[in-house]
Amino acid sequence: MSLVDTEALVLRTYNLAEADKIVVCLTKDAGLVRGVAKGCRKLRNRFGASLEPFTFVHLTYYEKENRELVSIRQTEILKSNFNLSSDPSVVTALAYLGDLLIEFSPPHQTNELLFRMSTACFDAIGESPEDLQSVLRYFEVWLLKIEGFLPDLKRCAECHRIFNSDEPVFMSADLVMRCLSCSNGRGGSLSRGLHAHLRTTEKLSPGKFAEGSREVPAATKKEFAELTHQMISRVLERLPRVRPTMFQ
Ligand SMILES: [Zn+2]
Repeated sequence: MSLVDTEALVLRTYNLAEADKIVVCLTKDAGLVRGVAKGCRKLRNRFGASLEPFTFVHLTYYEKENRELVSIRQTEILKSNFNLSSDPSVVTALAYLGDLLIEFSPPHQTNELLFRMSTACFDAIGESPEDLQSVLRYFEVWLLKIEGFLPDLKRCAECHRIFNSDEPVFMSADLVMRCLSCSNGRGGSLSRGLHAHLRTTEKLSPGKFAEGSREVPAATKKEFAELTHQMISRVLERLPRVRPTMFQ
């Protein structure tokens, strides 16, 4: 049995027996972790409000070899994100981010980049809830990228030529991007505006991306939301369990 000490983002909880909870967290050092918090539903308990979804905590747990479920010993709130829970659209969006993380990340697989990207998106929503939809798009693109599903946005997958900023780009059903001549016009075409907007996710933080998105036309944002929805659905082979209003 070993003791692990790490930062974590609480994603979801389930009641277990009379007084316990199963807590699903994305941790910095061990990826997705499911743990039992014994007695945490009793009136006086050592966890307090630290195991509410979307709380950023310092987490201490015991793990046993070959057991997926860990035993949560101690938590300390680093950031409550409690202010976000009063807005139902934000709560739905955060639940959606949590569900995607649970769907995409294999348990106990360290992925510090995923952890940093996710906490940066939570922070960006906290700082500017009105940019919620743009931060969701950013999160979706980066989640696909980190998990290895995002097609190369820079060059044609077939002739490897770098796309010009003014040429049409086509994405096939198996999530491959090609130029016009390689694709023969098959697959969905991306507007130039969307292609350019998509590529800015690679260069900016979620907050800066969301700020820049305020100037982007609504039609491009709608096309963006449809594209990421299509890519995620394709990857999951089904629709995500929760999906907030897609369009602003
Ligand atoms: Zn090509």
